Amino acid sequence: MATHNHNTDTKPSAIGAILHHKCPSCRKGDMYCQHSIFPMKTMLDMPEKCAECGQPMEPQIGFYYGTGYVSYALSVALFIFNLVWYWALFGLSYKDNSILYYLVTSIGIVLLVQPYIMRISRVLYLYMFVRYGAHTKEAQDTSPAV
Ligand SMILES: [Zn+2]
Repeated sequence: MATHNHNTDTKPSAIGAILHHKCPSCRKGDMYCQHSIFPMKTMLDMPEKCAECGQPMEPQIGFYYGTGYVSYALSVALFIFNLVWYWALFGLSYKDNSILYYLVTSIGIVLLVQPYIMRISRVLYLYMFVRYGAHTKEAQDTSPAV
C-alpha cells in the first residue's frame, strides 16, 4: 500500500471495487470501517470520508434512505437466480412440493445474505451518484483545513 506511488494510471475495475466495497471515486479506499459483517451491530459503519481521496461516504444526511429499493431489487434478483439453479438441479413441478421447497430454500438464502445485500446496496447506491475520480486528494488539499 505505502509503496504505491501517486502516479496511478491503472484504473481499478468497477466490479472488483464494488465487490470489495471500495470508494467509487478512487476505488481504493474502504467504504466500511470493518471488512467483515461481524460484529453485525457496526457492519454499516462508514468512515466520514474516504481515507484515500477524501470522498464523503455520506454526501448528505439521509443519503442512504433510498438503498431500501436497491436491496429489494437485489433480493428479487437473487430469488430469480435461485429459481434458475434450483430448476436446473432439482426441477420444478406443480405436481409435487418442489415449488414449496424452492421457496423455502430461496427465502432462507435471501435472509442469510441480507447483511451482505445491505452493505452492497449502499456501495451500489454511492456508485450511482459518484463518478470515478470525482474526488482527488490534491483538490482536497487546496481547500482550507478544518
Ligand atoms: Zn476514495
